[in-house]
Amino acid sequence: MKKKLLCVALSAVLALSMAGCGLFGVKNDAPVPENAPSKAPSEDTTKSEEAKTDEPAKEQEKKPFTNDGIILVNPYRYNMTSLYVFNEDGSLADTYDLEPISEKLKESENESYTYLTYCDGIFFFSGYKYEDGDSYKKLVAYDSATDEITDVIYWGSDNIYDVEAYDGKLTCSLSTSDYSSWTVKCFEKEENSLTFREASPKYSDIYDQVSTYNVTNIERGCSMEHFLDKNGGFIASEGDKYYLVNADGSIEELTYLQDNFYSLQGNSKYACFTEHDDSYKTMGTFCMDLSTGEKKKLSDLSVITMGFENGIFYFAEKEDTEFNVFDLTIKSYNTATDELNTLFEKKTVPATEMFESVVTGFTLSDNKVFYTDIDEGKAKIYCADLADGKVSNETCTDLVTQTFTPYDYGTVEYRTVASYCPNCGIPLTQAYAETFVLDSKYSEHADEINASLKEHSDNFLAEYESPKESWLGEDEMNNCEGHQEYPDQYDMTDTDQVENVGIIDDHYLFIDTTGYWYGGGAHGMPSRGQHLFDLTTGKELNLTDFYKGTLEDYKALVAQKTKEDYESYASKGEVSPYFAENSQEVYDTAYESVQLDMNVYFREDGIIYYFYPYEMGSYADGFRDIFISYKDLLGRDNL
Ligand SMILES: [Zn+2]
Repeated sequence: MKKKLLCVALSAVLALSMAGCGLFGVKNDAPVPENAPSKAPSEDTTKSEEAKTDEPAKEQEKKPFTNDGIILVNPYRYNMTSLYVFNEDGSLADTYDLEPISEKLKESENESYTYLTYCDGIFFFSGYKYEDGDSYKKLVAYDSATDEITDVIYWGSDNIYDVEAYDGKLTCSLSTSDYSSWTVKCFEKEENSLTFREASPKYSDIYDQVSTYNVTNIERGCSMEHFLDKNGGFIASEGDKYYLVNADGSIEELTYLQDNFYSLQGNSKYACFTEHDDSYKTMGTFCMDLSTGEKKKLSDLSVITMGFENGIFYFAEKEDTEFNVFDLTIKSYNTATDELNTLFEKKTVPATEMFESVVTGFTLSDNKVFYTDIDEGKAKIYCADLADGKVSNETCTDLVTQTFTPYDYGTVEYRTVASYCPNCGIPLTQAYAETFVLDSKYSEHADEINASLKEHSDNFLAEYESPKESWLGEDEMNNCEGHQEYPDQYDMTDTDQVENVGIIDDHYLFIDTTGYWYGGGAHGMPSRGQHLFDLTTGKELNLTDFYKGTLEDYKALVAQKTKEDYESYASKGEVSPYFAENSQEVYDTAYESVQLDMNVYFREDGIIYYFYPYEMGSYADGFRDIFISYKDLLGRDNL
């Protein structure tokens, strides 16, 4: 029995649908609501049952266990929370929330699951756990139609990567934990059952032959089987020599390729890579003809690689125009025609933290490209036609992958300042500030509020307008040797960014800010802040405008709530993020640290008191957030 794509996809929708979210199960050409990917799994599946009956049966025949005819798009690239499935014509087939699945797969708190791929209603995740000093990985399948879970590869020490449903099989590469040897495994799925049987890979002889070669140099973006089929060969190294391993089993030494590159992509004829000199200084990005060693320079920069398809290399150039401000240019290089094309040019959008929005989720198919871009304060998926490495018909799908709240209430502006060494011109301080600008429709006092916010930014930037002698020391100010040798270590940088904006009880406007200070060393220090305004007066407010108790009572309240947070880890059997080893110690440390009018976020139903990294726990554990309701703090339900 041949499966029909749509039926399978709809069963998946049943298991994963969001209550009240119209996206799931809508027809491909229907407009899509903006709040598409929801976070919480639904408890109500009946709604999508109705959606199913609305759906006209589609007789789209498809070979079992391949993704022919569909394109899988992950708009987050590194943080896989949603999967969007598109048809070849660029229309949306389905979207899935991946977070409920990874939660479902967890058998204990020390396991984590990462989405790998999808095919025919089945989701594949890699599992990771750290136990008694060793790490273990597994490959697990989840059937969204039946809610079944099965291990394709059980917990072991091997690394599992390049996982793809290709040519009717699930294919992956496995390497020993030290990457000293590798192999390819294929699995066939039994019809009507979530059972996977190991099958022989098409190129098993080749894998056996070069199992000790290093294949981690080349970026593939697909399974090894698929890569060999489409490119006719792959580059591998052994010792300091590079080889071309051909699909016919022959192996040639690549005498022109030196050990001075990274980000390698290519096929059996061309290799594209960024080259560095002996001191790891970037020499530029090149395309090399593997048979002649002839190199063409594609960029002066180290680039972000985006893909290599049909002999065309896709990459992004990221250029700093000011501190924390970038221009991003996506280009393609066609090895067959020697043509270099610009696909898109994008600029930093303040308060989105998505400098590389176009890179995010960049997905190539034979005749389409998908990527994320910012439109009116929202990250949306875009689609464009692709032919010979050139794009046309850029269209916004209106699928919102992320909403940036500042743009719901106004807009965001940015400014930068920098100071330079008077002798050699190297930057000594650089700062970037974002300023929220409230739309006048929210308050008669918008001008006053905006003036206050601008003043906060002015004060922040003023700190970095001239070199800080107190920081560098007088000697360093007049001595260029140190900062020329280690420019990053002597360049003090800071950011103050708008993260989140909201209105409480139609009365109070809050603007959450975030920042990152760096002044040399392994890492810098994150910062947080909040500005709260009364929309009816335009005045900025603090905690003590609401809280009329004593400092001691406030300290005791926050310390008590912090102690309860500490104790919750023990009761859940989770690893504590606190330095302290008992409740009293947590209480005492918190009590000592708490001050009025500091480290507070106002929210709808209470405040969040936050401790900075190192105050209660390690740098890696970050900020510690303690919620205190207005009931507990003010003795009333609202602010
Ligand atoms: Zn200097």
